[in-house]
Parts: sequence; C-alpha cells; structure tokens
Amino acid sequence: MNTKIIRNLASAIFTCYATLAVSAPPHWSHDEQATWWAIQDTTQNVPLNYPYADCGVGKHQSPIDLATVNINDSKPLNKLAALYDTDTPVFFNSGHGVQVNTSENYTGALMIGEESFPLIQFHFHEPSEHVVGGKNFPAELHYVHINEDGRIIVLAVAIDVGEENAIFETILNNTPHEEGGQNSSSGIQINPAQLLPDLDAANLDYYTIAGSLTTPPCSEGVQWYLLPKVITISAAQLEQLKGFYTNNARAPQGLNGRSLLSTQ
Ligand SMILES: [Zn+2]
Repeated sequence: MNTKIIRNLASAIFTCYATLAVSAPPHWSHDEQATWWAIQDTTQNVPLNYPYADCGVGKHQSPIDLATVNINDSKPLNKLAALYDTDTPVFFNSGHGVQVNTSENYTGALMIGEESFPLIQFHFHEPSEHVVGGKNFPAELHYVHINEDGRIIVLAVAIDVGEENAIFETILNNTPHEEGGQNSSSGIQINPAQLLPDLDAANLDYYTIAGSLTTPPCSEGVQWYLLPKVITISAAQLEQLKGFYTNNARAPQGLNGRSLLSTQ
C-alpha cells in the first residue's frame, strides 16, 4: 500500500465526519458519548446499521484509568524511537479537535523494533483522555501513525500546565476556527518532535496496551504507547485550546483483563 492510500485511509477514519456528504457517517459529539454505540446510520435502510457499535460492545476500548490497571514490567519490549523530522504540515480543525496533518511526502515515523509506522497526524484533547485514579491531566496529545497494513499506533503524551510551549503556540495560531477548516498555505515548518517530553526520542521509555480509537467508530486493534513524562503549556495556552474545543475527551473504558506492559 502506498503512502497515498494510507493517507486516504487515515482521512476516511479520522476526518470525513466533518464533511456533509450524503454518504458521510452519522454525526457524533463528545456530549453523547454514552450512546455512540446506538447511533443509527439512517442512510442505510435495510438492515438497520449501527456503524459505531464497537464503542459499546468492544472489550479493548480506549482510554483507560492508569491507576486501575495491572502493570507488567517483566516482559522484554521492543525499542521505541520517535524519528520525526521537520515538515510543512496542514493545520486542521477536524470538527472534534485541533489537529496537524503531516504532508504527503513526510518521512517522519515511529519505529517499534524494526517496524516503521509513518506519522499521519497529531491532535489534542482537553482535558486528557487517559486518567490516573479518575483524575484528568489538563490536556493530552495523540500522535497517530498508520503503516502499510493499516495498523494504527497512537503515541500519547499527557499535558500539564506550566511553562509556555512555543510550537503549541504556532499550532494554535495557525489552526482555523471553523469546523473542517484546513490551513495548507501557511508555509510554516514545524518538527512534531518538539512536542515530545524530555526523554531520549531514539529510545523512549513507555507503557503499552491494546486499545481502540477513542472517537467513533472506536475501532479496535489500535496499539497505544503512553509516555511516562508530561509536556507543559501555559494556562493562557490551555484557555486558547478550549476556545476551539473543550471536553473533547472520552471517559475511561473497562479493562476486561488487559494489563499495561512497561519498559521500566
Ligand atoms: Zn485522540
């Protein structure tokens, strides 16, 4: 599968819900997340179709409460390296969050052992989706990677309030405020690695767990990598983020026997 097909796939999964085409999947919002599974696709008459059923019946759903999960640090795990380089990306208002889409020729990727997963986009939730003992962080960053087989890997970073974040400022200042708006002509170059916490990007410590997309269709088979260090944005920047979307976070989901594997 070439990069273009991967990007079309990513687009189908993550962005088409903002469009108003007749064949678009049903609209959803974070406010009604308890009933995402019950949203019907009324464009399909027979049989009755619940396109987001996984949100309700899935057993490996994301996010989770990290205080409730069993941590296994005895298994040898793959080396994790975030090999992101500079890009001229598209700043995108997805209709559900602030998002940055990497350009078509972008070569930045996450290496898991010997496998490479191209970085397709990254986006923000406010507050965080992963919680610790029921407590949210102010925000959370998700780097989304998809490989040639369509496998999805999300690298998640908790965001705390503290020092101002220059690259975050650039992203906020260039993202359109209208839903579905894309800014592809800024010409601004950024390196997604600048949003990583103070860790060795070529050999990251991490926690990992099998999960799902945290937005409809809540598809499973997504492997999550959670970093053990936070990044910061200023209180003013958090308010600026809320000016786009607030409470765009899914509640923690049942573990159903899953445990968290850890490198440390
Ligand atoms: Zn996300």
